[in-house]
Amino acid sequence: MKKIVTRFAPSPTGYIHIGNVRSAIYPYLAARQSGGTFILRIEDTDQARYVEGATDLIMDTLKWLGLDWDEGPEVGGPNAPYFQTQRKNLYLQWAKKLIANGRAYADPTDSNTIQGYRDSDNAKKIPYLYRNHRPEITPEWQPGMPIRFKADPKPRKWHDEVMGDLSAGPEVQDDIILIKKDGLPTYNFAHIVDDFLMNVNMVARGVEYLSSTPNYLALYEAFGIDQPLLVSLPHILAPQGNKKLGKRDGAKSATEYRDDGILPEAMLNYLACLGWNDGTEQEIYTKEELIKNFSLDHIQNSGARYDEVKLLWMNGQWIRKLVSEQGIDKFYVRTVDFWPNSAENFDDNYKKRVLSIIYDRLKTLSDLREMTTYFFEDPKFDIEQLLANKFVKKFSEQELFSMLEATIVKLSSINNWNEENLKIALNELLETTGKKPAELFSLIRISVSFAPFSPALDLTLNVLGKETTLSRLNKVKTALVLDQQ
Ligand code: GLU
Repeated sequence: MKKIVTRFAPSPTGYIHIGNVRSAIYPYLAARQSGGTFILRIEDTDQARYVEGATDLIMDTLKWLGLDWDEGPEVGGPNAPYFQTQRKNLYLQWAKKLIANGRAYADPTDSNTIQGYRDSDNAKKIPYLYRNHRPEITPEWQPGMPIRFKADPKPRKWHDEVMGDLSAGPEVQDDIILIKKDGLPTYNFAHIVDDFLMNVNMVARGVEYLSSTPNYLALYEAFGIDQPLLVSLPHILAPQGNKKLGKRDGAKSATEYRDDGILPEAMLNYLACLGWNDGTEQEIYTKEELIKNFSLDHIQNSGARYDEVKLLWMNGQWIRKLVSEQGIDKFYVRTVDFWPNSAENFDDNYKKRVLSIIYDRLKTLSDLREMTTYFFEDPKFDIEQLLANKFVKKFSEQELFSMLEATIVKLSSINNWNEENLKIALNELLETTGKKPAELFSLIRISVSFAPFSPALDLTLNVLGKETTLSRLNKVKTALVLDQQ
């Protein structure tokens, strides 16, 4: 297998959309599978869109997902630096090579004149192409002057690993800007130079670059360099409609998902499978399995729809998988930031016991905040809520009082408060009261938790402990008496 040398080349413009993250995953998998190289290159030449701190966010995200890079910021490499602004002079040299070969020119035209060309072409209803206005006399390049490519418009054909065989006519090829007025290169130019110097042989990026590809092909040709494998990744679509997923459709940045309690394994799995499958029904993949099974030809060529419900389902699967593989102690470490505030006063052991009975109901780690408060503080007492429950409301308050009284007597008699004895006591209570589990257990469960659901009752009471259980049951019993007076 040919070693894939590829890169993730984000622009540090702030928020990292999960679609951008997926553009890192596929090249990463291809590089790792082939024993090749995964490069992180920061494309920071658009100063107007530059956001301080965005590079750290990108690196945090990659690290969180376990997408380690072989070359790039922090790790260095033979082609350092990996920030394009630090490579500024190099692009100028390469642009000058093209000027020397007659394939580029310094453009003295001022912006008003350019606007005039655009307006007059629009008025004539002809497509605006700068090459139709290429200046006849071009000066020596001086700082402050853009450098433009001299297009060689002709029909072009190429192969895209996802989109198949493609072609474009001359009408999309133009005198694109290589070096801007500020002396920095455009994306269109810089990535060609960098990919070549960094020996990149596979370029995977969003499908939005497809329309510019004929111009890139012209640049490869002008430099006499081989075209890398081109992989266009379709958009991730919003949950509804036929549009690209955006912030407004509820898409968060990868780090927001992390803060919401999504596991990196689940996020990686979900994003990798959003628009790719290995042809089987398998849905849960570890990173190693993804590396092993990945193939470019199974990337879908149409947009995949973002589905948060699926992501949450997958996260729940991963929570269970990790607990069963690693055990509660190890998994607990990941949950430390997600407990309710009132859990602060409890030791790790107690929290681990809570975790061990609730983990299989979690969709995200942050569910712990809502789902476990009654283990750490008395729940908000609301007798009306209790009486409104569909099982509880079948009984009069007098009957409920008796059921609770029987429960309190029975549970008080347990000397050794453990799961097994609780199970026996609860079963005996069903027999002596003649009530159905849904009836009696709903009453007990709500009385101790005031929560919409809880783990199995014996497990819940066991963790809560005898004292807390009895005091909460007594509180409800007393309220029922008072209600009747
Ligand atoms: N800097 C470009 C972006 O963030 C990268 C495209 C590419 O991977 O070449 O969209």
